[in-house]
Amino acid sequence: PITIDKIAAGEVIERPASIVKELVENSIDAGATGVTVEIQDGGISFIRITDNGSGIARDDVQNAFLRHSTSKIRGIDDLVHVASLGFRGEALSSIAAVAQVELITKTAEETFGTKYQINGGKEQFLEETGAPNGTTFMIRQLFYNMPARRKFLKTPMTEASHINDLLMHLSLSHPEVSFRFLNNGQEKLRTSGNGNLKDVIYNIYGREVAGNLIQISYDRDNLRITGFLGKPIITRGNRNFENFFFNGRYVKSAMVSKAAEDAYKDFVMQHKFPFLVLHFTMDGEDLDVNVHPTKMELRFHKQQEVYNCVYETVHRALLEPEL
Ligand code: ADP
Ligand code: MG
Repeated sequence: PITIDKIAAGEVIERPASIVKELVENSIDAGATGVTVEIQDGGISFIRITDNGSGIARDDVQNAFLRHSTSKIRGIDDLVHVASLGFRGEALSSIAAVAQVELITKTAEETFGTKYQINGGKEQFLEETGAPNGTTFMIRQLFYNMPARRKFLKTPMTEASHINDLLMHLSLSHPEVSFRFLNNGQEKLRTSGNGNLKDVIYNIYGREVAGNLIQISYDRDNLRITGFLGKPIITRGNRNFENFFFNGRYVKSAMVSKAAEDAYKDFVMQHKFPFLVLHFTMDGEDLDVNVHPTKMELRFHKQQEVYNCVYETVHRALLEPEL
């Protein structure tokens, strides 16, 4: 079973950022309002994720690390479900297969918490411990038992920047959660969790961007778009500042980028890109679910319709009189 887990793990766990993504999403699923991520060495030697969520009851701890064990049942048109289909219930077993995992967790109902260690899929110990409500995962020495995979990791700086990007996107999609990110003890990101998207933008991009935003809101048929567009005085030099979220999940879409940029063109010099944070809410059925689960590029069944909505919404926002 350890070999099968190792192979399966390779599909889910590519790099330290994959671990952070799975664990932070679990924290959010567990109702956490605060999540702290600390890494050393780009996350290759150490990742610690602390949340104040539901915790895992002692009797459930070992089960949570079994393949295909999930305590979650998701709605069918939940994009989160669709985009991750096939990976459900595999994150903890996969992470434990390729690293050394220490878990400290406690539910509100328990008097004492649980400390659990599992290395390369082999359980080391499970014991009672004093702990606050919530869950802390410590992941050490990623791919310590798979030297070939370890060689494919990039420099700590590059791996850390993947984690930073990921946490920026998670912060923008969850303004109601307070995030903290520390790289080698240095605070890189901190959000308040007050639910205000503009405040998150301020925390990530600073005053110049947050002070020059146009609010976006579109609601028709089966499509809702909310968020912020940067005024033309703060154009960006590349696409990296276009952030799109579909049903709460960060995705890239060349078509949505193109629509926004086409609308933007009339208002700015050539070769300039907009700052954008757009949240799309739509039926899962209108999305192409045949996209590979780890890929963030999204396709739609109604390409032209979505293009038109984005184009019109951005164009109209730029025509607002207060500009
Ligand atoms: P999935 O998230 O698809 O259910 P995972 O392997 O990621 O599968 O997690 C397995 C189970 O472990 C979850 O269903 C959940 O019950 C539990 N779990 C994992 N992380 C946390 C956490 N931070 N807080 C509470 N429960 C957790
Ligand atoms: Mg999970």
